[in-house]
Amino acid sequence: MLTFCKKTFLLIVFVFIACKNSDKAKKTVLSDVINNKVLQAVGVKKIKPPERFYHPDLIGFANNFISDAARYGVIITDQSKELLRVINFSDKLDTTETGVLASCNRYRGENQAFGGVIEVRWNTIQVLKDATKRYTGESHILLRELLYHELYHCLLNKGHLPEDVPGIMNPFFQRGDQRAFKDWDGLIADMFSKKLRDMTPDAP
Ligand SMILES: [Zn+2]
Repeated sequence: MLTFCKKTFLLIVFVFIACKNSDKAKKTVLSDVINNKVLQAVGVKKIKPPERFYHPDLIGFANNFISDAARYGVIITDQSKELLRVINFSDKLDTTETGVLASCNRYRGENQAFGGVIEVRWNTIQVLKDATKRYTGESHILLRELLYHELYHCLLNKGHLPEDVPGIMNPFFQRGDQRAFKDWDGLIADMFSKKLRDMTPDAP
């Protein structure tokens, strides 16, 4: 028969394990998506890209990303810049996936024309407003890291690094990765390096 002390010890161990498990269940893995959408023209209405809009709080990240890329010999083509129509905060993402902070959306559609069909394409970056605010804690550095991640998807047409390779293009956002705070220049030098670019597959 178990003594009182032994029973109490077992109870404490059980409570500890139960707490650990529920903490694990509650911990959401944060990531993002590349969202490919094929649009169908409805009736005679033509598919049309949205007006160009870069949110004033986010446009600086895009300009810096392009000049940083050039500094490391990575050219963002005019076509890529032209395709990226919108960078904006949003209350709801154009995707149903959960645990997602932001998305690079790629829209494709076809309009009927006299000579056949004309393909229409554009990209947008959506940043989920409240969830991102909670994640960044309004840290400019974490928001910059998140935007650089999305810009890399949308302007360079690239996917994610393998899960076990650290870097801005890792598929998971972890506040524990403090390199953005301590070594931003090193972090982006790595991101634009040939080695990491080669490790990052083209976007699906
Ligand atoms: Zn991503």
